[in-house]
Amino acid sequence: MKFSELGLSNELSRAVADLGYISPTPIQKKSIPIVLMGRDILGSAQTGTGKTASFTLPMIDILASGRAKARLPRSLILAPTRELAAQVADSFENFSSYHKLSMALLIGGVSFADQNAALSKGVDVLIATPGRLLDHFERGKVLLNDVKILVIDEADRMLDMGFIPDVERIAGLLPRMRQTLFFSATLSDDIQKLGSKFVMNPKIVEVAPPATTADTVTQNLIWTDSKSKRKVLRDILRHELVKNAVVFCNRKRDISILVKSLTNHGFSAVALHGDMTQSARLEALQRFKDGEVPLMIASDVAARGLDIADLSHVFNFDVPTHAEDYVHRIGRTGRAGKSGRAFTIAASKDDHKYVSFIETLIGKPIPLIKIIDGRVIDVDSSRVENAAKTDDEKTKNKAKVRKFAGQAQKSASDKPAKLDNTKLVTEKSKPAAKIKNRNRDSELPSPPDCSGNTLAETGHVPAFLSR
Ligand code: AMP
Repeated sequence: MKFSELGLSNELSRAVADLGYISPTPIQKKSIPIVLMGRDILGSAQTGTGKTASFTLPMIDILASGRAKARLPRSLILAPTRELAAQVADSFENFSSYHKLSMALLIGGVSFADQNAALSKGVDVLIATPGRLLDHFERGKVLLNDVKILVIDEADRMLDMGFIPDVERIAGLLPRMRQTLFFSATLSDDIQKLGSKFVMNPKIVEVAPPATTADTVTQNLIWTDSKSKRKVLRDILRHELVKNAVVFCNRKRDISILVKSLTNHGFSAVALHGDMTQSARLEALQRFKDGEVPLMIASDVAARGLDIADLSHVFNFDVPTHAEDYVHRIGRTGRAGKSGRAFTIAASKDDHKYVSFIETLIGKPIPLIKIIDGRVIDVDSSRVENAAKTDDEKTKNKAKVRKFAGQAQKSASDKPAKLDNTKLVTEKSKPAAKIKNRNRDSELPSPPDCSGNTLAETGHVPAFLSR
């Protein structure tokens, strides 16, 4: 299917072709015609599915006729974080290269003056985080009574971050007669209930069952003890062909410690967390996106929704305590049909519980690996083959998973020993010293062609995304 068949203008088809898009993704196929019809949407789409284009493209065509008046934006996109808002703005600029539409980005941490200047000229599309938008509103710099389209992006994260009262206040300032597009990574009962406050007679658009992980991401779990976590991470980094990776930590203070430790060991890493100034965050992100620094050590809030092209790896340096965060974290890789790898390092007693929450949520065990003499070993390939297909199998598998996890944690602190039923991944094993030097020079090699060369399973890549 072509973009033009969805009812988009020739200018937009040209703009997406310039970006290398060949055909629409499933969320785009479903959402674009509905948005063009003027209907409201309650949409659930995972990150990396092309969700941003599914609302920005039809919005551009809808807004193409008409002109904005000073301080009266014609459409509003609300995003939970500054980075996400900036990313939507980048997409909007790319897609509207053949249109004369104006845009303003209202995010914290940057000067009010420039944002004011943009608002006073009049904008077709206003992209904002809720807090900064309300700041401008209270200063009388923006009026919302001309907004015809409202997008609430990453609503589940807005809820987690406590932004819903702000979003409700903003929605109350908008005309009642408007089009509303409400997107969330998952459409749980709570989120649907929340969404129904904003939309009218919506079409439900879902492209993936709630909380599924993309097939394009190969996942692995490793048990160790708390003191060895940094060594385990280094071992995997040396063993794997890491082109670029986001390493997630649960606590901000651990981010700085990990950056220092990795730097001491010859790796090149930047930090990204909510306590950094906006300019420091954007600078770190840019260096990482430009490939100048291959490792970004990040918190959930800062990294949520980030679109980093061709991210080869995600590491959970800590097991996320909310199972949904696992899905979001590993969703940073394996995007737009590319293969990706996700490693989770578990160490604490509580991690048993958190791993079990995750495996329940994703409905399958995370294949276990072990590091022996600096080499990554697949401990339990049978668990992959036995991945649950029925509820009955799921229950049995979960009991098995707990058993395996317990055994693995017990043996993690043991000296390297004989392993039954293990498989050495020889294709990927490299002399550690050689790779260490390469990392020291920050010249990390190209990402692996994961097809047929994985530690465990390799996900099916939908054809439309592989092209
Ligand atoms: P998103 O889910 O909106 O964050 O998009 C994830 C990535 O997929 C971004 O890098 C987009 O540029 C890319 N993308 C979106 N739609 C398409 C498409 N139809 N074909 C190829 N890449 C796409």
